[in-house]
Amino acid sequence: MTAPLKLAARGDKLSVLCVGAHSDDIEIGAGATLLQWKADGIRIDMLWCVLSAVGPREAEARSSAEDFLQGVERAHIETHHFRDGFFPAQSAEIKTWFEELKGRFQPDVILTHNGIDAHQDHRLTNDLKPRLVFSDIVMPGGISGLELARKVRRRFPEMPIVLTTGYSEHVGGTHGFDILQKPYELRSLAKALQVALKEAVEAELLAPPA
Ligand SMILES: [Zn+2]
Repeated sequence: MTAPLKLAARGDKLSVLCVGAHSDDIEIGAGATLLQWKADGIRIDMLWCVLSAVGPREAEARSSAEDFLQGVERAHIETHHFRDGFFPAQSAEIKTWFEELKGRFQPDVILTHNGIDAHQDHRLTNDLKPRLVFSDIVMPGGISGLELARKVRRRFPEMPIVLTTGYSEHVGGTHGFDILQKPYELRSLAKALQVALKEAVEAELLAPPA
């Protein structure tokens, strides 16, 4: 048994985006986590999206989501009609939907498929999530890039992070983050992002099963 994700405490608000390729994928993959969060008294603002809910499976997806989301502070269910088994051939349409979604919902957490799943629809759905964080160390007001990187690493240890700075005094004290020194050429940026993504994929493949 794996410990539940502790992202919030009783009374905290957590906005959650669930994206499942097919009817019942979210329930199977994330249902217990959601029920635990509800039982823990976390105030969930949920957007529940099923990408391929066609024919009778649409009503099935909706009624099951409604059951899971009973008692949740705010919930919205979206069902779409992308063709089951053909997601790679519809990637432009799916990406367009996701880009539009980013403008209207900014979740604290995304629950979706594993990137090394054998099903091509599941892999493509996973590809929609953020893959990497790239930030300047010095940002106007508020949080610095280094603080941002530490927060991201604490909550999402598998997320690759690349930082950049024009101030050479930062380069020494960055505690394990990859730093790209400014000014850099596009070729160097591409290389740094490629290396970070490749390391993340290797770590995911080598991780013991949960
Ligand atoms: Zn599925």
